[in-house]
Amino acid sequence: MMQSLSTRLILAFALISLVGIGLAALFVRQLVNNQFDNFVLEQRRSEFVTRVASYYAGAGGWQGVSPAVLFRNDGNRHPDGEPGDGPPVTFALADQNGTILLSPNPLDRGRRATPDELAAGTPVMVNGERVGTAILVGPRPGFSPAEQRYLARTDLALGAAALVGLLIALTLGWLLARLITRPVRDLTEATRALAAGELGAQVPVRSNDELGLLARQINTMSADLQRATELRRRMTADIAHDLRTPLTVIAGYLEALRDESLRPTPARFAAMHDETRVLLRLVDDLHTLSLADAGELPLKRQEVDPAWLLTRVARTYRDAAARAGVALRVEPAPALPSLWADGEQLLRVLGNLVSNALRHTPRGGSITLAAGRADTGVALRVTDTGEGIPEEHLPNVFERFYRVDPSRHSGTGGSGLGLAIARSIVEAHGGRVSVSSAPGKGTTFSVELPVVAEGAERPERPAVRLAEEVGKGPR
Ligand code: ATP
Ligand code: MG
Repeated sequence: MMQSLSTRLILAFALISLVGIGLAALFVRQLVNNQFDNFVLEQRRSEFVTRVASYYAGAGGWQGVSPAVLFRNDGNRHPDGEPGDGPPVTFALADQNGTILLSPNPLDRGRRATPDELAAGTPVMVNGERVGTAILVGPRPGFSPAEQRYLARTDLALGAAALVGLLIALTLGWLLARLITRPVRDLTEATRALAAGELGAQVPVRSNDELGLLARQINTMSADLQRATELRRRMTADIAHDLRTPLTVIAGYLEALRDESLRPTPARFAAMHDETRVLLRLVDDLHTLSLADAGELPLKRQEVDPAWLLTRVARTYRDAAARAGVALRVEPAPALPSLWADGEQLLRVLGNLVSNALRHTPRGGSITLAAGRADTGVALRVTDTGEGIPEEHLPNVFERFYRVDPSRHSGTGGSGLGLAIARSIVEAHGGRVSVSSAPGKGTTFSVELPVVAEGAERPERPAVRLAEEVGKGPR
């Protein structure tokens, strides 16, 4: 395939140069022929004029002028002339009055030349006086053998030039084809490696042209592929790990209960139930993420009042915060435009942010829920005075299964899917999440969401507002 690409390139170069050289040769040949033709004609004309002028001067007039007389002793000077006829006369001669005396066409003799013919003709001058006119008639004179030999040599030179040109074109074509196909060979090699499973294979970027761009894109694609594969591998391991822990606990209980080495008490069933709920939540979270990945997260959008959202979340976590000894506050929000969002899903996002904050804020700390204007809409903020997140972990907290402290798992922490789900939900809304944190001081998560566009079509679903009965969810 690679061979044939070079071959085709070389052939294309050769073909193009061949056409170019051929056209140039044709053009040059035509030009040379024309020039030569004119030159020969000019020569004949001046010769004719000289002869008739000298005849006139010798004879003192035109009487007795004829081709035979004019070209008498000159057999060798015009070898193309037919012997006996004298040289071919392609010029007619008219006298002072315009009467044609001589002509290759016998019918012309004695006729008056037209003014046009006289004007186009060449005057025959003797002693500064115009005594007649030489008029070109009939076909242009042909070439003599010597002239033809000259033209043939010109053709030969042109042919040789064409051949050399073609050779140069072929050499250049070969070089260029190698130059062009080299990056293509690199790319082929890299894609072959990719196909063979060597993810992350890179192509040398040799230029800034289209092929260089392609190489760069293949490099990016290759790196992305490697990252995605690595992520998938890690995720599978994480899922397996997170499923195994509760299942091991449940299996242990069940075994002991079956062997009657443990007595079935409500507390034991409650423990098993807890583990089952962990499993259910994990499966649920994974389902949500897979829907978000496929862009199929169902969003029941409606107008949602940001203040209503904050109040709802605060109510839900009031008791938990009180138990943890953490103050949970809602900052009074200024009048804000409504969000165009799925309230239920946003509650889930905020719920995860608040439960994270609760988990990482020691007794005596506080959690503040606030809302405010942002560049593109409204920002909801959850700020805690907890332990904070070390800077090197900040870019990763939204990754799936990412936990700052991986050892703190079941019991204290979740599976590390909460923020990944939050990001998916917010991005499905066309918004974005961000985090800023100062270790030891606290953390702020911020969720920016689009608002109901000014003058947009009003939704059919009723808006959810703080003023309305708060207990009812936005469904
Ligand atoms: P899940 O939410 O699935 O139960 P999780 O809470 O551990 O598990 P995420 O919500 O994704 O997972 O949070 C990821 C990690 O980010 C947490 O494990 C924690 O280490 C860190 N983190 C999140 N919020 C805070 C916070 N407010 N303060 C300090 N660390 C936090
Ligand atoms: Mg969480």
